[in-house]
Amino acid sequence: MLGKWIVAALSLAVALVAYDREAHAVWNYRACVRLGIQTTDSGDPSVPGRNIAAGPNAGGTEDHWTTCDNGCNAMARGIRVRVSQGAWNEKFWADPATGCFDFSRPTNTTNNVFTLRVYSKAQDAAGNVLRVHDSPMTVGTFPGTVFSAVLANVPLLKSSGAPQPTYLTVNDNLNVWTATAAAAFTLYRYHDGIANKEFHIGLDTTSCGGSSSMNGQLATEITQGRQHIKLGSCAVGNPQSRAKFIVAHEIGHGLGRFRANANGNAPWDLGNATTPNACGFGGSYSLTTKEFNSVGFKEGHAHFVAARVFNNKESEGAFSLQGNYEDLERWGGGSGAASGGRLKNECCVSSPAQSCASSWANAGTNEDWLRFYWDVYTNVHPDCGTRPGKATMLDLFAVTRNRASLGTTNAWCELRAAAATLNQLPQCLRLCRLAEYGTHNGVDTSACNNPDPGFDCSDF
Ligand SMILES: [Zn+2]
Repeated sequence: MLGKWIVAALSLAVALVAYDREAHAVWNYRACVRLGIQTTDSGDPSVPGRNIAAGPNAGGTEDHWTTCDNGCNAMARGIRVRVSQGAWNEKFWADPATGCFDFSRPTNTTNNVFTLRVYSKAQDAAGNVLRVHDSPMTVGTFPGTVFSAVLANVPLLKSSGAPQPTYLTVNDNLNVWTATAAAAFTLYRYHDGIANKEFHIGLDTTSCGGSSSMNGQLATEITQGRQHIKLGSCAVGNPQSRAKFIVAHEIGHGLGRFRANANGNAPWDLGNATTPNACGFGGSYSLTTKEFNSVGFKEGHAHFVAARVFNNKESEGAFSLQGNYEDLERWGGGSGAASGGRLKNECCVSSPAQSCASSWANAGTNEDWLRFYWDVYTNVHPDCGTRPGKATMLDLFAVTRNRASLGTTNAWCELRAAAATLNQLPQCLRLCRLAEYGTHNGVDTSACNNPDPGFDCSDF
C-alpha cells in the first residue's frame, strides 16, 4: 500500500515537472533597432570643406558619424518600442549602449512574427528622457505628439537559450529620425551629473533654421526638470533637425541649465560694436562674429558639449556649424598658430594691422570660447595633467552662471572666480592654466589675467 502511494506521488511529481516545463517554455528574442538617418553637417575626409582645411590636423574630422551626410544607419540608443502580436503588446526601452532590448514569449501559443512600433523617444542610462514631437513652441508636461514608425510583421530570431539579435531598420521621415538619433546619441555621450530630466524637442516645419533652447517659454521649466527645444525642420532645404552639432548644441544648453538648476540665461549682450571689426557684430551671433563675452561664455559652452559628443577625449578634434568646419585646437580652419585666437588675429584687420585693441575689451567670439573650453577639458601638461570630467565642465559653466555678479561684460572674470571654487580641479589648472588657455584662444582676459596671489603659477 505504501509502495503504491509512493509510485502515485512520484507520478504526480513527474507530471507536475512535465506540466511546468510545458507552461514555462519560452522563446527568447532580442530586437536591435537602427534608424536610417542623413545629416547635413558631418565631416568627410574625402570632401573638401568637410574636413579641417589646414595645419597639423589637415584632413581631420570628428570621430563619430562621419560621412553621414550620405546617409547612415544609427543605433537607436535607448529608443522606445512597442512590440505586439495579436492581442498581446508590451513597451520597452532599448539599451542605450546597444539599441537592443530582450523579451520572451511562450512557445506553445506564439510564433516569431511581431509588429514593432518605434517611437521618437529615448532614454539614457541616467533616466534622462527625450521626446521629439510636433509642437515646437509648446511647453508643459508632454507637449505635442511624438512620431512613430511601424515595422509590421517582422520575423525575429527565436532562441530557447540566450537571445540572438535581429537587426531592424526604420527608414522613414529623415528629419524626425535624424533628430531622434542625434539627440539620443548626445545624451548617451554626455549626461554626466544630470539624471531624470526631460528634453522635449519640437520640430518646426515652417522653418529650416531658428533652432533654439531659449525662445519664448522654452527654458522656463528647467527647475521643473524640463528643457524644451525647437529645431528648424523644413521639408525642403537644409533643416537643422538634421544638423547633428546643432541638435547636440541645444541639448548642451539644457545640460548646463539643469546643472545650474536655473531657468533661462544669465544676462548677455550682442553688442561690443566698436569699429573697425572685421568679424561683424550686432543683431545676431554666429560661430565667428564678435560680441560681449557673455555670448561666448554660454554659446561656446553649448558648442563644447556638441564637440565632446562627436569627438573622443584627445587633444585633436573637429567641429562643424552651418558650413564652417573648424579645428578644435587652432583657429583659421586649422591654420592659426598665433596666440589670441580669432578675436585678436582676425577680428581687427584695419590699418595699421591688428590695431583695434579698444574694441576687444570684454569681447569674444563663440569659436574662441569653444576652443578655450576644449583646451581646459583636454588639459595637457607634464606637471598639471589632471583633466576635468564632463560633469566638472558643466560645473564650470553652472557655477559661473549662478554668480549674482555675472553681467553682460564680465563673463571671463566671473568664470575665473567660479573656477577658483571648483576643488575637483587641481590648483595648477584652475588658477594657472585656465587663464593661459583663455588668453591663447582669444578670450579677452585683460580684465582678470592676474596670477592668483596665493599660488605660484610660474611652473605652469
Ligand atoms: Zn546656443
